[in-house]
Amino acid sequence: MSEEKRLNFLEEIIESDLETGKYDSIQTRFPPEPNGYLHIGHAKSICLNFGLTQRYKGSTNLRFDDTNPSTEETEYVDSIKEDIRWLGFTWANEFYASDYFDRIYSMAVELIEKGLAFVDDSTPDEIASFKGTPTVPGKPTPGRSRSVAENLRLFEAMKAGKYPDGAMVLRAKIDLASPNMHMRDPIIYRIKHTHHHRTGDKWCIYPMYDFAHGQSDSIEHITHSICTLEFIPHRPLYDWFIEQLGIFPSHQYEFARLNLTYTVMSKRKLLQLVNEQYVSGWDDPRMPTISGLRRRGYTPESIRDFCERVGIQKRENIIDVSLLEFCLREHLNKVAPRRMAVLDPIKLILTNYPADQVETMEVENNPEDPNAGTRPVPFTYQLWIEREDFMEIPSKKWFRLAPGAIVRLKNAFIVRCEGFSKDEAGNITEVHATYLPESRSGKDTSGLTVKGTIHWVSVPHAIKAEIRLYDRLFRSENPAAEEGDFKDHINLNSLQIIPEAYLEPGMALADAQTRYQFIRKGYFILDKDSTPGQLVFNQTVTLKDTWAKEAKKI
Ligand code: ATP
Ligand code: MG
Repeated sequence: MSEEKRLNFLEEIIESDLETGKYDSIQTRFPPEPNGYLHIGHAKSICLNFGLTQRYKGSTNLRFDDTNPSTEETEYVDSIKEDIRWLGFTWANEFYASDYFDRIYSMAVELIEKGLAFVDDSTPDEIASFKGTPTVPGKPTPGRSRSVAENLRLFEAMKAGKYPDGAMVLRAKIDLASPNMHMRDPIIYRIKHTHHHRTGDKWCIYPMYDFAHGQSDSIEHITHSICTLEFIPHRPLYDWFIEQLGIFPSHQYEFARLNLTYTVMSKRKLLQLVNEQYVSGWDDPRMPTISGLRRRGYTPESIRDFCERVGIQKRENIIDVSLLEFCLREHLNKVAPRRMAVLDPIKLILTNYPADQVETMEVENNPEDPNAGTRPVPFTYQLWIEREDFMEIPSKKWFRLAPGAIVRLKNAFIVRCEGFSKDEAGNITEVHATYLPESRSGKDTSGLTVKGTIHWVSVPHAIKAEIRLYDRLFRSENPAAEEGDFKDHINLNSLQIIPEAYLEPGMALADAQTRYQFIRKGYFILDKDSTPGQLVFNQTVTLKDTWAKEAKKI
């Protein structure tokens, strides 16, 4: 019997709700505000909301929370849909809070009719000062005693565009002495003469988040409305509206938002990075956005696995980005085809190999996957190898090339280093070696044991490519928590460009969807900046987590 995974608190609640017959099936929603691109924190919420309805009987809506017309754009709507699909989820319905503006307006009218809402034409400062403080109860503003008829007339006039922005608001009439400031007659409608990306100029009054979210949940019969911890103090208000309006009783549940080390996670901060050109765009491979992670080479599987491992908590915490990278390596190690690429090239000349000969080596595609097969790779007397695989004066435990030393060229021959040449400045320009014809991989009769194996690319066949290597975008573990501006903690060396790396020839046909392992160098993916004559690859992640060690050295 496999061990049962422990249920998280939401799964416990849902199982109990289904067992007691409170619901026959469950409904959740993912409610992004279309004011930016989704990030890995949203992925957490997406995996949670869709994951629950996959696990239990139910469905999940995608609902754009588009009640604030000034920050929302269709570009964001499109990117959000693309990202959710890419993560592997399918929504039952695509809804917009703005589709409910008529119904939400009627609900506001209903509250006015019940004497539970009033138009307040006090100034924002007056409203704030009359609200009191957590320890001092609020006082009524003059508008609070307006008659129902007068409130209805004014609200109608607000809607009709008779007043400028900020002239008046509609407030719920609840309890000015409540210890919860959200219950002290919260504003539920404001005037905003702003074009809306969907409703155009139909409306000049818009409901506040608290007067749109719960109502939208209720309209859609959402059973479990899951949000992050900062909404806990809003819950009494969420429940109050539902109760007063007698609408479908959706319930709000809160979990801790995902925070990740060495990055920032709020759309507002990410927007600053984009606008101030610290990064090339929302999909810069260093960004924690879904589109950035995708361009970097992350797989949906690895992100889902990460979200699953992180689980859900009820207390704020920060997750080490190494866990995300671990999940990525776990997945890529299984699926990534292996290729040879030389990032810092130096020439290796095989002095005894016929200069006009081209041999084809069959190189295995993935030792982790027996079905992955092999591919032909041309071999000649001139090879590119990594500069770091040769040492003029070898250190003690050096198993790679050095004068007199032997090494195996991956899936080819054993070679013995015979010498090297230098330019005037003293830089090594070429390494010379002889190969052992009887040592060919798979048919080796040399009887030699070799400790080191290095990769190579045939010089006349090599494909040139630009390679982009990435480091953490921030030097600080938690830049948002640092004093001062979070941007002061940006790592200015987070992008390193290798203009000319050499790849085995098959990479000319590299597929944009495939993540490759460049053996010994990490995982790489073709970037959208590539053109037919100029391939560009992003390093997705290194093979090992070298960063923790490096950080200790600093
Ligand atoms: P941000 O603070 O990054 O701007 P937001 O909460 O304003 O995010 P929304 O578009 O309102 O972004 O979020 C859509 C959903 O995603 C909400 O239910 C929200 O609670 C959830 N969400 C946002 N950020 C995180 C996070 N870091 N971890 C988990 N869930 C998140
Ligand atoms: Mg928000």
